[in-house]
Amino acid sequence: MNLLLMGPPGAGKGTQGKRLAAKFSIPLVSTGDILRANVGEGTELGKKAKDFMEKGALVPDKLVLEMIESRLDEDDCADGFILDGFPRNTAQAEALEVTLYSLSKSVDLALGIEVPPDELVRRLCGRRVCTNKECGSGYHVDFDPPAVDGACDDCKSALYQRADDKEETIKSRLEVYEEQTKPLIEYYTERDLFKGINGLGTVDEINALVTAAIDDRCVKP
Ligand code: AMP
Repeated sequence: MNLLLMGPPGAGKGTQGKRLAAKFSIPLVSTGDILRANVGEGTELGKKAKDFMEKGALVPDKLVLEMIESRLDEDDCADGFILDGFPRNTAQAEALEVTLYSLSKSVDLALGIEVPPDELVRRLCGRRVCTNKECGSGYHVDFDPPAVDGACDDCKSALYQRADDKEETIKSRLEVYEEQTKPLIEYYTERDLFKGINGLGTVDEINALVTAAIDDRCVKP
């Protein structure tokens, strides 16, 4: 199963993606996570991407496309993958189609998690993430706080606030989503691949909707 998780920043793509990856034993490929790892390690890609990310802008397509092409060609993607945060504009969607074709693959389903803008801002402002990359659990200071302030429930590592989860940057990221990423709903609807999911509710409730949509479209009887 080759799945795209779409939706604005803060919609819960990472949270749902992690669950789906475990359920279907396929990798969750998050372009944001790969880019943040590159920034953290100070690679050439990370140095080029850092300023764009801090402003809440998209990293140039050329950099992201090279990165994703090699990632999708790795062995662990052979039986399927879940893409989180890619594609983010029409050029990336078209490039993905070409890349997948060359690998004899295609997108099975583009799931869009829908959440209104005021709720996204509330979620993103209070979001805290585990510093341990292997874990990556997410929390919210008000709605889903960890048992011990500032420490991950799962692995006890420290939590941090993403640099781009500050209010001014959140606004830019939501504008970028509206202008560049939202048109992909039409792109995948035209190809009969899009399914919208109500992203308001508990993680379990949304997971049930997401899983039902996948069962409906991807799991053969
Ligand atoms: P995310 O973790 O998906 O919210 O991504 C964090 C940041 O990484 C974004 O605000 C962009 O600066 C960058 N980024 C992630 N994915 C992409 C992409 N597909 N194209 C361009 N920039 C991206």
